Amino acid sequence: MNILVDTHCHTIASTHAYSTVKELAEEAEKKGMEAIAITDHAVEIPDAPHMWHFENLKTIPRKIGNVKILYGVEANILDLDGAIDMPDYILKRLDIVIASIHTPVYRDVGSDDHTSAYLGVLDNPYVDILGHTGSPNLMYDHEAVLTKAKRLHKLIEINAHSFIARKSNIENCRKIALKCKELGVGIVVNSDAHICFDVGEFGSAKQMLSEIDFPEELVMNTTLDKLQNYLKPRKTILNGVCP
Ligand SMILES: [Zn+2]
Ligand SMILES: [Zn+2]
Repeated sequence: MNILVDTHCHTIASTHAYSTVKELAEEAEKKGMEAIAITDHAVEIPDAPHMWHFENLKTIPRKIGNVKILYGVEANILDLDGAIDMPDYILKRLDIVIASIHTPVYRDVGSDDHTSAYLGVLDNPYVDILGHTGSPNLMYDHEAVLTKAKRLHKLIEINAHSFIARKSNIENCRKIALKCKELGVGIVVNSDAHICFDVGEFGSAKQMLSEIDFPEELVMNTTLDKLQNYLKPRKTILNGVCP
């Protein structure tokens, strides 16, 4: 399976990442990728850029070399209601909105069950993707959340970076992927690159998916057309246009 779009990449605008937009795009081109999404952290987390970063993303060319650039954000889920740290007037201009839990800015980290945070954030019409939900420290009801994600035409991320960061995530990600397969929920496989060399590197995530014989038709970022066709009905209703 070839995955030609990486919808989760950080630049130096998130200060714990180390590459520029140009470096990410050049690396993506070298690897023959079609598109990348620039998804720096939203504003609550300490390493995040200022809100103006997201207002000004349109400054970045739509194409660098042969690689299309999608404008995005990795928003922080803040509580069990699923509130996020990015206003609608900015969200509506973005191509890709990931919502993730990051424990330093998540108020309900001590809870036993995080289902309501994910169910709540899925109700935000601008959220496209639930980011790296595989942490075994933040359990949720897979059946309930994935069923709702499918109904609302959203995507579940299988995050290659999580496989490297925490080995304990792998088994949990496998369970989530198996449930997505069973329920027919669309996923995206992303690098969550924090340096250009990691763009388009999905090795261990792809290996896990092949071990469970995950159907390629549910992997929505294999090509840009496929991703856009998947997002289009919801984006068109929201914004009148699709990226
Ligand atoms: Zn994250
Ligand atoms: Zn990230």
